[in-house]
Amino acid sequence: MPGEASRRYASALFDLLDRPWTAEAACRGMDPAIFYTGGGDRGTQPGDKKKRRVAHQVCDSCSVCAECLDYAIAAREVFGIWGNLSERQRRQMRRNRYLAQSNHEH
Ligand code: SF4
Repeated sequence: MPGEASRRYASALFDLLDRPWTAEAACRGMDPAIFYTGGGDRGTQPGDKKKRRVAHQVCDSCSVCAECLDYAIAAREVFGIWGNLSERQRRQMRRNRYLAQSNHEH
């Protein structure tokens, strides 16, 4: 049974987020489960690969992908696909940004 934190994925949060870009989100109204696959306390489930493929296709067509990703990085959203990136890809991006910032400061 997933914990509360595991249910923080993009399309399920839009009604709670007071941000104009969510109105343009391609995933609005879609089943949030499509954007939440594997990882965290849920573990990998059958069908995750297919769901992930569908999620990336939806994100590919989304006009607010950059805004979504910026939000997810800033809010440190751990679970689900946001801005067309998986949890792992966002972690990597945060790490790269941190390293780039550290190098810039020294
Ligand atoms: S980038 Fe993907 S997760 Fe983010 S708003 Fe668009 S469709 Fe939804």
